[in-house]
Amino acid sequence: MCGIFAVSGKENILEDLFLGAFYLQHRGQQYCGLSTWDGDSIKIRTHRGLVRATFTGDMAGMEGTMGISHTSLKDRQPLKLDSKMGEFTICFEGNLINRNEIVSELKKQGHSFYSDSDIEVVAKLVAQGDSFVDGVEKMAKKVRGAYALVLLTKGRIIAARDKYAFRPMIIGQRDGATAIASESCSFVNLGFTILRDVKPGEILEIKGSEVTTHKIIPAEFTQYCSFEWVYTANVASTIDGLSVDIARRNLGVALARRYPVKVDVVAAVPNSGIGHAIGYAQESKIPYDNVFIKYDYASRSYTQPTQEERDREAKIKLIPVPAKIKDRSVVICDDSIVRGTQMKNDLVVKLRKNGVREIHARVACPPLKAPCLYGVATRSKKELVAHEKSVEQLKEYIGLDGLAFNTLEDLGQALGRPLDQICTSCWTDVYRV
Ligand code: SF4
Repeated sequence: MCGIFAVSGKENILEDLFLGAFYLQHRGQQYCGLSTWDGDSIKIRTHRGLVRATFTGDMAGMEGTMGISHTSLKDRQPLKLDSKMGEFTICFEGNLINRNEIVSELKKQGHSFYSDSDIEVVAKLVAQGDSFVDGVEKMAKKVRGAYALVLLTKGRIIAARDKYAFRPMIIGQRDGATAIASESCSFVNLGFTILRDVKPGEILEIKGSEVTTHKIIPAEFTQYCSFEWVYTANVASTIDGLSVDIARRNLGVALARRYPVKVDVVAAVPNSGIGHAIGYAQESKIPYDNVFIKYDYASRSYTQPTQEERDREAKIKLIPVPAKIKDRSVVICDDSIVRGTQMKNDLVVKLRKNGVREIHARVACPPLKAPCLYGVATRSKKELVAHEKSVEQLKEYIGLDGLAFNTLEDLGQALGRPLDQICTSCWTDVYRV
């Protein structure tokens, strides 16, 4: 998973570029990078670590009127290439399912590769075009999978979103400047207002603050990633017309309607369970309270690169609030259950130690049964506890007094979309792309 930001304006946009990436930090914490065009040359700088920690005090010489930036879970971006069309830098989010076939084909044509990253493949495919737009179109027709990308060349930014629209991408405008981002939460404090989402299959260009659509690659159906609304995206974002906050409340409301329970308090596994819990509390009329606090300096456990780091982060991030737990029955809302170990070894243990009377869990999405092939996380089937356990077995395994998951139908209704327009592979194990 990654965050992408691009901005073009009349004045120096470096601060916007830096903050745009900073507000997308939740989409990837391992690497970050900026690239700018100053009217003369394209500059690039990348770091391992967080945007604010690594770029503060290290942006001198990066000033420019156009730029792209990136936060990543797995590789260093942007990538810079020199091509027959001139130099360019490129950032990408997604996953190429047919990467191996494309790489073998390119090797036969004489290309060499220095990494196993998708961005290198995407950049090399784009560089084969007769123009950058043509290169992006050729790449789009060649790859199978999910992507959102921005490309910076001399005086122009090209952006593209895959034809199924798996990964989010949105355009914002401010007086004399245009930005493109993975999520609209990066716009608000920079003064950008939403112009529109990038359309499925759209290839567009930004010059100054002008946005021009060059191409729409047609698709038979869309596959908006449902998990963006359930967990991945920031709660302040609006994705493809639906507020993440409203989507999470809708999911909590659906849980309260279908699986009511008599308890003293509704609580969240913070932060991503908060919206779901508020929805549950509003619908059930049971008070919402802070049973756990997420320590501000802990990271998102789901987006850590290794299982060891995910376990460590999960263990340290939640601090129980003893006064809110003792002798009370609790329904705790979470976005999803991956391996169940965090709930079993951490959350339930902390609640029982602090004298909870009953623990019921309500989960915003159906049981996760299959890995994501479209760039969100790399889980194997055997890591997903619901793949081999029923809900009743899972309840016993975790040590809960009650457990229920939203149905797929309720998920679709909460997101306001027919199920055939959203990706549900996480839960169905059916991959349409
Ligand atoms: Fe999103 Fe899941 Fe589909 Fe991946 S498989 S795109 S996480 S809904």
